[in-house]
Amino acid sequence: MSKKRKVFVYFQMKKWGREVLSLLDGLVTPAVIEKLTSENSDSFYGDNGEWLDSAIRSADPGKDIDESSFQFLASRFRERYTHIRVFHGCRPVDVGEYYQRGFLPMDPEQLIETARRYFLRGQLKEINEGLLEKAIAEISTKHRANHIYFVLDDRHLLNGAGEYLIYGSEYLYCLAIRLTGNCESILRKMGIPTIFACDLPVEMVDSWAIDELVGHLLSTLFRSFESGEKKTAPKTRFSFWIKRALPSEFIHSHYHPSHIRDSHNYHIVHESIETSCPFCKRPQEHIQKNQGRQ
Ligand SMILES: [Zn+2]
Repeated sequence: MSKKRKVFVYFQMKKWGREVLSLLDGLVTPAVIEKLTSENSDSFYGDNGEWLDSAIRSADPGKDIDESSFQFLASRFRERYTHIRVFHGCRPVDVGEYYQRGFLPMDPEQLIETARRYFLRGQLKEINEGLLEKAIAEISTKHRANHIYFVLDDRHLLNGAGEYLIYGSEYLYCLAIRLTGNCESILRKMGIPTIFACDLPVEMVDSWAIDELVGHLLSTLFRSFESGEKKTAPKTRFSFWIKRALPSEFIHSHYHPSHIRDSHNYHIVHESIETSCPFCKRPQEHIQKNQGRQ
């Protein structure tokens, strides 16, 4: 029998805030919380937990701590949650492909083929293979190849990283802006702005990403105590990547936003008229049909 999913959902801060505090039970006592609420929360960094460790030591000088509170929570987090709700912004021509094959790590060769199809075989007479080769040589794939990027908060895709929804692949966009002609406008016409919500298995996430996540959560949680308990979480740009495929069974849902800020164009609001696709309804049936063929 498969294990019941216990999904961490960042947006539900009231819920996870209580869960995180209960995971830290015995370490973060009411005395620690009281001490921290009297301190300046600007020093509650997400990448260095010394502020929390020192508050724990200060509240109970006799306490024997053999690992940092961040590390302690990271191991508890892996025990408590089976999945993390994450979001991926893109501009697929065929949304159904994601429900068929899942998410695949970025493949530069495949995207170069797409660039040839879009930029060389279209109406842009001024673009040639030589110019495309030059652009390919200039764009690094170091932090792109074999990666799939996810964010914790889909609001970031709408307001701070809308380029993935408006232009699609960042690699294609980088190639486009190095070529002459209006290649960007071609990218804006291909596909449909899409945000996928996925429940990513914790076991697929590298330990550095879990460590960074729990640091971010603790920083967010204790900073929020200044202004009282929050039901929903503040906006965050937190992102990370995996370097493996994510099967479609982990797609929770998807949607097509109508208003997106264009971070590559003075943050003006891009209005998309396409807000639905054939897979908006009953994508699960499509998955089952596809699995039945295998
Ligand atoms: Zn759809």
